Amino acid sequence: GIAATSGKAQVIMGNNVVAHINDYQDLSRAVSTLLAPAGVFVFEAPYLVDMFERLTFDTIYHEHLNFLAIRPLARLFEQFNLEIFDVKIVPSQGQSLRVFVGHKGSHVVEKAVHDCIMKELDLGLNQTSTYEALAEKIALAKTKTVHILQDLKSQNKRIAAYGAPAKGNTVLNYYNLGPDILDFALDELPSKQGLLTPGMHIPVVDRQYASEHRPDCYFLLAWNYLPIIMEKEKDFLAAGGMFLLPTGDIITDSNRNHTGSNIITPNKPQKKILVAGGAGFIGSHFIRHLYTQYPEYVIHNLDLLTYCGNRDNLADLEAKDVELRPEGRRYVFVQGDICNKELIDRLLTQEHFDVVVNFAAESHVDRSLSSAYDFIRTNVVGVHTLLDACRKHRIPRFVQISTDEVYGDIDQGFATEESSLNPSNPYAASKASADILIKSYMRSHALPAVIVRGSNNLGPYQYPEKLIPLAISNFLEGKKMPVHGDGRHVRSWLYVTDFCRAIDLVMREGNESEVYNVSGTQKTNLDVLERVHQILQLSQPIDAYKTHTNDRPGADRRYAPNSEKIQRVLGWKPDYDFDRAIATTVGWYMQNQSWWQEIKRQQGFLEHYKRQQEANYY
Ligand code: NAD
Repeated sequence: GIAATSGKAQVIMGNNVVAHINDYQDLSRAVSTLLAPAGVFVFEAPYLVDMFERLTFDTIYHEHLNFLAIRPLARLFEQFNLEIFDVKIVPSQGQSLRVFVGHKGSHVVEKAVHDCIMKELDLGLNQTSTYEALAEKIALAKTKTVHILQDLKSQNKRIAAYGAPAKGNTVLNYYNLGPDILDFALDELPSKQGLLTPGMHIPVVDRQYASEHRPDCYFLLAWNYLPIIMEKEKDFLAAGGMFLLPTGDIITDSNRNHTGSNIITPNKPQKKILVAGGAGFIGSHFIRHLYTQYPEYVIHNLDLLTYCGNRDNLADLEAKDVELRPEGRRYVFVQGDICNKELIDRLLTQEHFDVVVNFAAESHVDRSLSSAYDFIRTNVVGVHTLLDACRKHRIPRFVQISTDEVYGDIDQGFATEESSLNPSNPYAASKASADILIKSYMRSHALPAVIVRGSNNLGPYQYPEKLIPLAISNFLEGKKMPVHGDGRHVRSWLYVTDFCRAIDLVMREGNESEVYNVSGTQKTNLDVLERVHQILQLSQPIDAYKTHTNDRPGADRRYAPNSEKIQRVLGWKPDYDFDRAIATTVGWYMQNQSWWQEIKRQQGFLEHYKRQQEANYY
């Protein structure tokens, strides 16, 4: 009809109407019939990706029948001999698509089309689990927001809704927020004023009423006008008023210039860090370091809590964090396995981490001699799982915590980052395997990763089957310390907080794809035991506290990493010399005896300790 009477169209436009259509076959057929051979069908519609990136789930309501993405649209148009040849992302209603469609082959297809499809695949938009994870994230936003509202209410604060847009009703009904929580909804449109919001029946009022009944907090339903509203309401904010977003984010006078989600920290934009294995020795120090140094960091700790993982290592931090109320909390513990692909995928979909730092590992050489299975599983398969997930979710930085043991025995001189890897025991081999795998991902997939190889750490919270805490605790209990072989093995001792500062530097400033060694002071095992004995001022001479066992099979005589690179390039240097490090460490174990006594009573400790004493590794 139209084509016959008016001719074919050079341009067909449809802005913010396509998502309302229920028959896409019909639409495509019509476009194909009406479009001139070199014509363009151009339309704008909200982009499905936005819902995942900014949690704009409130755009799901009765008028919006479809949520569009390029990959399925491309398939649809193909059936009608049409082709998407360009896409632009435009900032209207959050993030919208502007899609350019022509007859197949009539236009050059721009790279932007391919980029969008890749992004959609990376986000997992073609998988059901992605949508299930989104649902969980929305449920979390609800819990967080309702909690804040109830908290405000219990402090007798007055709260009202800002705006009464159609999408606001999705939030109000799903969050179950009625007039008992929200006094009114302010909306400038006269056609809405004097009415009630559908479902939750909140009275919609004009500006005059709102200024006469000024609330302490506005719950912002019209979030898509955020910058304009912040400008318009700067007096309200300056007078101490606050805005709460449906994501649970809070805006006050100090952070009113922010325009996106995650608006908690007043000055610096928030950073999200996933620390894997953060309930162990070094990981827990690293989390404490980040938490105290960077108020803008939100830290997730993913830890399986194996025999050496202990949530109590961060009990002080958890207690402090709870006091911050839900809106200010910066530490989240997740019990889980780095080998669990679904869990990692869900976490990375939910949280958009800026960095993933991996400490999770089986880390005791002795145990790897008895059975290497868990070492291969966590230290290799687990790392592989993290790498694939980081690649899929385009995590901007992956930091692997590795060890100087990967270089094996260094008879003379020092091992630099370029030295060959010659691991001597299954633990070291599993860590070296992970390093090689990561390097392959750096090269083949341009994975933005860095590797930090630390030497032997000492400090508080180390599992008491390792040399120094075992010696201190055994001496304090009047027990003997098993010494492997002649005890003259050389290790490079590094205080744990110095190592954490080094990791932090590499995480923030290290060059992509680089390896950085971090080392301390060289001492033999006997030197270390003698120093512990000296600090404890024990009554008997040291020999009374030593029992010699066979050396460990494959034991390395000397580790000697060279950390000149991190000192030169990143300006790292240790704060602690060995004397101060060992004195501080011994002092901590003396003052926190219940921490290690509790662990030494556990079956997991006792079983292995028996083998360790007998040097029985089979
Ligand atoms: P640790 O044994 O105290 O802690 C390891 C943590 O990883 C524990 O909390 C454990 O529960 C967790 N974990 C184990 N398997 C897991 C899994 N499958 N999924 C999730 N979490 C899991 O170890 P540490 O001494 O703190 O060492 C941490 C890292 O630093 C290790 O990768 C180790 O190789 C490396 N490193 C340690 C030293 C050292 O002297 N301790 C030196 C250099 C490098």
